[in-house]
Amino acid sequence: MATERTFSIIKPDATRRNLTGAITAKLEEAGLRVVASKRIQMSREQAEGFYGVHRERPFFNDLVTFMISGPVVVQVLEGDNAVARNREVMGATNPANADAGTIRKEFAESIEANSVHGSDSLENAKIEIDFFFKPEEIVG
Ligand code: GDP
Repeated sequence: MATERTFSIIKPDATRRNLTGAITAKLEEAGLRVVASKRIQMSREQAEGFYGVHRERPFFNDLVTFMISGPVVVQVLEGDNAVARNREVMGATNPANADAGTIRKEFAESIEANSVHGSDSLENAKIEIDFFFKPEEIVG
């Protein structure tokens, strides 16, 4: 299996409820290693840039407003098949459809306030990691 790096965000609904540790524990239990982590307040410009691919979707403005409504924790996760493994432990976008034991099933409030972001491909993982981290901030 290939060792990969993926990008994760613990979203404002989760930091507000003090779930940073609980969510990080689920990631670690899934075999992922946190090799970079920082708590930040995203600017509107940053959030719009990060979610640029969703610009045409009807929920774009709501999503950006939600993502800047409080601090987030951005992380780089490393492990075997990290991209797919993280998507698995996150669960479906809508918590109503998420499998038991997933982060979104246990913690998400709604389809929007769904506690975590995770890259959907290795290619996007690289882009997203570079968006938030300098190489020297990642220590494997
Ligand atoms: P993900 O890869 O599972 O995070 O899902 P998407 O890439 O499709 O959507 C990005 C994010 O937009 C999701 O994690 C949600 O926070 C939000 N989102 C997705 N669908 C909806 C929706 O129908 N309404 C709202 N308000 N937000 C949504």
